[in-house]
Amino acid sequence: MPHCVSPLVAYFSMEIGLESGMPTYSGGLGVLAGDTIRSAADLDVPMVAVSLIHQRGYFFQRLDAQGDQSEEPVAWPVNDFAELIDERATVDIEGRTVHVRAWRYRVTGESGHVVPVYLLDTDVSENQPWDRTLTDVLYGGDDHYRLCQEMVLGVGGFRLLRVLGYTDIRRFHMNEGHAALLVLALGEEKLAEQNQSDSISNELIETIREQCVFTTHTPVPAGHDKFSETLARQVLGDRWWGLLKACGVEETLNLTQLALRGSRYVNGVAMKHGEVSHSMFPGYPIHSITNGVHAVTWTAPSFQKLFDTHLPDWRRDQLSFRYAVGIPTSDIWAAHVEAKRTLVEHVNRESNAGFDRDVLTIGFARRFAAYKRAGLIFQDLDRLKRIIREAGPIQIVFAGKAHPRDREGKDLIAHIHEMRDALRDIINVAYLANYDMEVAKMFCAGADVWLNTPLPPLEASGTSGMKAAMNGVPSLSVLDGRWIEGHLEDVTGWSIGDRVEARPEPETDARYAADLYRKLEEKVVPCFYKDREHFVEIMRHAIALNGAFFNTQRMVAQYLHNAYRLGQARMP
Ligand SMILES: *Cc1c(COP(=O)(O)O)cnc(C)c1O
Repeated sequence: MPHCVSPLVAYFSMEIGLESGMPTYSGGLGVLAGDTIRSAADLDVPMVAVSLIHQRGYFFQRLDAQGDQSEEPVAWPVNDFAELIDERATVDIEGRTVHVRAWRYRVTGESGHVVPVYLLDTDVSENQPWDRTLTDVLYGGDDHYRLCQEMVLGVGGFRLLRVLGYTDIRRFHMNEGHAALLVLALGEEKLAEQNQSDSISNELIETIREQCVFTTHTPVPAGHDKFSETLARQVLGDRWWGLLKACGVEETLNLTQLALRGSRYVNGVAMKHGEVSHSMFPGYPIHSITNGVHAVTWTAPSFQKLFDTHLPDWRRDQLSFRYAVGIPTSDIWAAHVEAKRTLVEHVNRESNAGFDRDVLTIGFARRFAAYKRAGLIFQDLDRLKRIIREAGPIQIVFAGKAHPRDREGKDLIAHIHEMRDALRDIINVAYLANYDMEVAKMFCAGADVWLNTPLPPLEASGTSGMKAAMNGVPSLSVLDGRWIEGHLEDVTGWSIGDRVEARPEPETDARYAADLYRKLEEKVVPCFYKDREHFVEIMRHAIALNGAFFNTQRMVAQYLHNAYRLGQARMP
């Protein structure tokens, strides 16, 4: 390693998107974790990361002709990707000693700096059969399984780092509350150092807080894990329950509360989300550091070539995207045509949808959670048909998995399939199975317009639109999360509806849909077909204005500067 500095920052995340073949992530949270580590490696940040191996993967999605989803475990060859290490740690769960081993995956940055990622694994012969399954399924099982997994991540991960010799970690970064139990592990270590065994004092909490950073990622209540006292006592034991009480935990163990209590710096993942989080957890100052995406990971080959030609420093310095204003529009269009061809050919190969390269292509791909409102564009089919008749044709490509227990999400997938069939002969609609990082990259670069219709204020940030912008693809999006910061009407894309604060009364789905149709009819479709020069000008601004900001290089620099505050760390 050219930069041999002891790791100062330990980054903990329940999911992590390292590469497409590793099903260790479910969606935006995991992809963000991967992008964070990739940019930390690029910036030579002395960091080490911890997650779980998820041996059976976040599921393989099967969709039948009606769009009914069924799930299968992913069979993936762990040892093709990561290397088993010898060091082990133990965690006490329900009074049993659970042994934890780990796989090491190395993320190498632009200049060769490596950030190691340790993927914890309890499938070892010393463990009881049930304990051996604890690192199998991401977000699987019940509350009991989940809490045991969180013990493995927070406590097992912390102890493994110590066993590995990482004794001088300066900051522990909890990516979402799943890792919050590391606060207790850190507290226990400090008690042992002080030869105390009883209770965590306020003074001791202050020394813990000095080392911890917490990023909260969602205003959706289901995203905040809570466990009953009975379950928490059973899994953690009475002594640790006592420690939790000293950390301010009352009847239920709320991991978000624990992380808030244990961290000096807390942030939301966009300006608006920081404000929303502060109103959810009054009493805690909550900052904002807007998410980003890793530029080299998310740009299509044709755009990489384009940037290599016109912005030679872009791989090292993503502020260079600002200079995209100087790239000739014809070159941007040519790169886009190539990315679009890749997508259209893929869609036709996978789904026989008969997509046409010359038709305005709208992309929509994400986790299928109800609040993302994937079906909004199909609210009024007559209106949609009229737009197509009068303004010009469109085709729409969808992808996304619903959580195995999310009935509403699954119904939405089936609904999109129903709409696809109902619109046959009028609009080409395709739905591709198994949305993953590879598919996301193809979609975000190959669509002409990226559609985003969450119900405000539930979209904390949103990152797929950032991937799109880096490939010159403008967004047509509700003003929530990152779009509040990235939107300039007719310059970087288009809004759907007003800012929540600007609305006189609660907005209904029907009104959002009406605004979506109005934008398509009056702006997006005519601009694409009749004013291509303006359309490509918008593409160029998406790169220059949005790409230059919504990247993880800027984001990691803000974490260094505002959250980690390591003294010797520099701004890039
Ligand atoms: C980027 C990405 C996401 C997150 O997209 P959002 O717009 O934030 O919902 C989810 N899944 C995959 C596979 C991704 O690549």
